Amino acid sequence: MLDPQLVKALSKVYKDPNYERDCDKDVRIYTKPDSLSKKHNELLATSNFAINQVTQYRHDALVKQLRHVVRHDGLETIVANLLVKAVGSGFHRGIQPILSYYFVKHLPQHGFESFSYMDHDVAHHCKTCGLKEVAWTNDCEDMFHLYIGYLNLESHPFLLSDLEDVLTFQPHDFEATKQDKSVFLNVITAIEQAPPDETLPALGKRLSKEKLLPKSNNSTRLRVLWCLAELGILKNKLVPGFSIMDDFYSYAERYHWTVQMHDGFLARADPVFPASMWRGRLGVNRDYLDRIMNRASLD
Ligand SMILES: [Zn+2]
Repeated sequence: MLDPQLVKALSKVYKDPNYERDCDKDVRIYTKPDSLSKKHNELLATSNFAINQVTQYRHDALVKQLRHVVRHDGLETIVANLLVKAVGSGFHRGIQPILSYYFVKHLPQHGFESFSYMDHDVAHHCKTCGLKEVAWTNDCEDMFHLYIGYLNLESHPFLLSDLEDVLTFQPHDFEATKQDKSVFLNVITAIEQAPPDETLPALGKRLSKEKLLPKSNNSTRLRVLWCLAELGILKNKLVPGFSIMDDFYSYAERYHWTVQMHDGFLARADPVFPASMWRGRLGVNRDYLDRIMNRASLD
């Protein structure tokens, strides 16, 4: 697990204007800024963390690697604990792994087939999983983004780094405490008490006002809610019964639902499927919640 102090040092590196874009590969290449403090320079030097590692991914090989890594015993327990810890104590690294895990758990074996919508190729994504046939990434930048809580609700090569990284975690790195579980359950209870017409942004504001999510800001609160909707804990009115815990949804299906969802929103709104299709009256699905809480109980 990356040291929090190292993550702080990296936050001074991975930002404007410290990069140049490699347009052929569509990745950013970073240079350490001269303004970096001596302490942060030393931390970077002793950590062996490279600033840039540009890697090429190929769809078929990556699908095979993903389907292999997800078979590790204990991974489901790690990701459940991490989510509870993320909600319970603001551990931002903990949200993405559960999304990566269930997406990959149900990912079928398949070959690349380009998705097209209304006879146009859509950015060369696979119609089953959404990965590109060939893609380049800066793995080090992706790893930093995982540690500051970025989420990817569609498939991306960093799902592999994400799962491989959490498999190196020790129990004290990922184990959710009783306090984390209690905070998580309080958040769920607050969601159940929503007024019938409450929307997702209004729910985020209410959770903020009630100070239920420790160390959160507007972005991290929304990411928690996006994650709960993917898991099916927050229900949505467009696809009843939706949950990545039990089913695989193809890139093509999600694309069509997203187009349908946009029809109901103003042009300037930026809805996120499926979370933005939640309303207070739909409440939560406690079955999915119980499964995660049971998984997170190691003792
Ligand atoms: Zn695919």
